[in-house]
Amino acid sequence: MGLKEWVVLPLAKKWIAGVGLDAAVEDAKKANSSGVGVVVNFLGEEITDPRAADASADEYLRLQQSISDNGIDGYVSVKLTQLGMGADYEGMRGRLEKIASNADRLSQHLWIDMEGSAFVEKTIQTYLDLHRKHPESGVAIQAYARRSESDVKTILDEGGKVRLVKGAYGESPDFVFPTKAEVRTNYERLMDLLFERGSGFAIATHDGGLVGRAKTLAAKRQVQFHFELLKGIRDDLKEELTKSGYKVYEYLPYGDSWWAYSKRRIKEHPSNIWLLVRSLV
Ligand SMILES: Cc1cc2nc3c(=O)[nH]c(=O)nc-3n(C[C@H](O)[C@H](O)[C@H](O)COP(=O)(O)OP(=O)(O)OC[C@H]3O[C@@H](n4cnc5c(N)ncnc54)[C@H](O)[C@@H]3O)c2cc1C
Repeated sequence: MGLKEWVVLPLAKKWIAGVGLDAAVEDAKKANSSGVGVVVNFLGEEITDPRAADASADEYLRLQQSISDNGIDGYVSVKLTQLGMGADYEGMRGRLEKIASNADRLSQHLWIDMEGSAFVEKTIQTYLDLHRKHPESGVAIQAYARRSESDVKTILDEGGKVRLVKGAYGESPDFVFPTKAEVRTNYERLMDLLFERGSGFAIATHDGGLVGRAKTLAAKRQVQFHFELLKGIRDDLKEELTKSGYKVYEYLPYGDSWWAYSKRRIKEHPSNIWLLVRSLV
């Protein structure tokens, strides 16, 4: 075990279930016992070795089976570069098809995470194609991306499902709205579109103002939607929403590739840097 595992892994366990599938199942059961569903992600991204991509796909098949065998209220969310999209598109499609067919067989949903700008167009096209055969699938859309309004409209035209997030990657202003205020305004615009025309979508944010807007829209329109929040963040909000009768899912990552994910969580909230520093001294 290296220094990073010794020092940072205990901190990272705030955001991840642990390294193995068993840890994810245990956390999933805990979340379910308080009425919260789970969206489980096996950590990993930008995989180019076909054997490693196959291994990721196999882990997802095991995870889906485990969700079913343990009666867990939840399903999986995959990253397409983890299935080899960056290196071999057809290979990735084959692996994704196996996971999607397995989800259908087990009556589970399937979500696709959205990654950095280099992969957005391919992810959208792959999702639109996948959704025609597997209508219970959905895809994350990033409100920070200038193109997202057009993507949401296309997905809604096709009857697809969206998980609306702000966006987590460092991107250039050509691709994203550069200020937090603009990202929020775009989030509101996309949320309005989802409540007008969508169904089965997810409002995935810890931003209390945006959650409040979703509640107001939900009171006006009886649409099927749920909230999604990350493990370890705003547990108070999860509890409040669940007690008020909203369906909440917790995004629950696990696996040994926890560093890239943890860095994104540390960067997006300054107090986490202090948590990290405090754990080092
Ligand atoms: C279920 C789910 C799935 C996601 N999937 C994707 C994806 O596929 N692709 C993608 O690019 N992004 C994804 N994200 C991440 C997302 O893009 C944002 O980076 C992240 O949610 C923070 O944005 P926010 O909407 O919570 O708003 P923010 O303005 O960042 O946060 C609002 C409030 O939430 C709390 N908070 C937020 N983040 C933290 C943190 N790290 N530590 C402590 N408190 C915090 C704080 O109180 C903060 O004031 C996902 C997020 C969720 C909830």
